[in-house]
Amino acid sequence: MIDENLPEAQRILARIAVGWPELLEVNPGWLPLLGRLDEQLSIIAPDYVVLQCKSKFGALSFYAQPSPDPGTHDDEFAGIIHAAEWESTRLCELCGGPAQQYTIRLWSWTLCTDHARQMAEEAHG
Ligand SMILES: [Zn+2]
Repeated sequence: MIDENLPEAQRILARIAVGWPELLEVNPGWLPLLGRLDEQLSIIAPDYVVLQCKSKFGALSFYAQPSPDPGTHDDEFAGIIHAAEWESTRLCELCGGPAQQYTIRLWSWTLCTDHARQMAEEAHG
C-alpha cells in the first residue's frame, strides 16, 4: 500500500468526505496518476470530496463528487475520473511502468512483465 506521508497521498486523504474511512487502498505505482487526477479535479471543482479510492479488478476505482453536498454530479468531473480509471489499467500498480492485467492468486492485478513474474513466483513459492 501507499506511503500516506507522500504529498500526493496527503492531498487526497485531506479530501475524504466525513463518514468515509481515510484510506487509499491502492499500491504505489498509481500515486503519480492520483496526483495528476487530484490536480485536474481541483481546477474544475475546488471543493471536491473523495468517498473511496481503491483498486478493484485491477483498475483504479475512484469515487468522488464535485462538492460535499450529497448527490452532486458534473459530467466533466466524472469524465476526468473515468479517464484516470482507464489509464490505471495500463500502469503497473507497483512501479507505474507499462502494464497489462493478470490474475494471480485469484486476484486481478495490473502489472509490468517484471512485477507479474515476481508476483507469480511468490504465489507459487
Ligand atoms: Zn512494475
